[in-house]
Amino acid sequence: MAYNPYINAQAQFDKAAELMGLSQAARDLLREPMKEFHFTVPVKMDDGATKVFKAFRIKHNDARGPAKGGLRFHPHETADTVRALSMWMTWKCAVVDIPLGGGKGGVICDPRTMSLGEQERLCRGFVRQSFSQLGPNIDVPAPDVMTNGQHMLWMMDEYETLAGGRYPGVITGKPVGSGGSLGRTEATGYGVIYALQDLLKKENIDIKSTTASIQGFGNVGEYAARMYEELGGKVVCVSCYDQGDKTSYTFRKQTGCDVKELAGIKDSFGTIDKEKAKSLGYELLPGDAWLSEDADILIPAALENQITPETVQKISQNVKVICEAANGPTTPDSDPLIQERGILLLPDFLANAGGVTVSYFEQVQCNMNFFWSKEEVLEKLHHAMSGAFGSVYALAKERKLTMRDAAYIISVERVEKAVRQRGWI
Ligand code: GLU
Repeated sequence: MAYNPYINAQAQFDKAAELMGLSQAARDLLREPMKEFHFTVPVKMDDGATKVFKAFRIKHNDARGPAKGGLRFHPHETADTVRALSMWMTWKCAVVDIPLGGGKGGVICDPRTMSLGEQERLCRGFVRQSFSQLGPNIDVPAPDVMTNGQHMLWMMDEYETLAGGRYPGVITGKPVGSGGSLGRTEATGYGVIYALQDLLKKENIDIKSTTASIQGFGNVGEYAARMYEELGGKVVCVSCYDQGDKTSYTFRKQTGCDVKELAGIKDSFGTIDKEKAKSLGYELLPGDAWLSEDADILIPAALENQITPETVQKISQNVKVICEAANGPTTPDSDPLIQERGILLLPDFLANAGGVTVSYFEQVQCNMNFFWSKEEVLEKLHHAMSGAFGSVYALAKERKLTMRDAAYIISVERVEKAVRQRGWI
């Protein structure tokens, strides 16, 4: 069965709307994006030919502040995926209570097969085509799947060239020294583990006695793994996509992976070098083996729709927590199955809110033109994650809800209040 992330995002929202008794007008307004831009970006390729890329920038809701959210480069990007991701951004910013709305962008392309020059021209073209829709007070992109700080900087430069001034708040996730914030690279992954740490504490589980299996070794997976290891957890396996043979593999070491060692043999898209890993004593298993690993914690940190009713069957009886580092890794029809099994699920837009939280800090620092130390950024991040987790956990306990439903109720309530106070409904 092919899952559509937009249908999934709407199903999650509808469930929360029902639980809350949300007004019809609020449901109608919040179950779909307010504005969508679909456009093409012509790019001169290195061989002289022009290639036309399809792109999207979608604004779900900006009642609480300018739209905020990543820009993805992916060959399988679809408008519906971007719609879903823009909705999740609205709830994500609301759950950590930052004054931003939800937006997302995507370009159908594969940066792994493009030269740096081609990638730069694509980034600049994206900004030229969507210029009027972007801006520090309108919609602020950030890195996401297969985009990075360099892409952000090219886009900022193009925006500033067109705008005729300096507007560092137009984009976040920029390199440090060019308007970026210390700690932004680590923020999403670290934030995932700060929330996980709080959950384990509440459940009286000592993180040092736990093992984790991680899917994805891009920016989020790597830094989640690093922080989890730093806190004393044992990462037993990491799965990632191999660009070379277009297959996923799981890298396992029973004695525990050495995360820094694996990070040292991966490329910028998160592909771990198979030969080097073997020579370091890693076992190579099929891509989905991460899911059936006998670990305490599963951390999906890759793409949507990885945990489905079919794959839930493969999850080991010993798994206690699923910590969603990716956006939308679990389909709505799997949620009840996970709940029945007594597995605690830390939902995506809460668990991975650390990235956008430090994006917000980056904007604040750019506005002040005064930059904080890494310690200060991470301390503020930790505080924000613990605050958001605490509210969600307390509501879930109080009303006997899943943490996903509790997180939705908190976020939707905040956004509903903003649209109502503005007089939109
Ligand atoms: N792309 C990240 C996310 O999905 C970060 C968004 C941002 O920093 O604006 O949360």
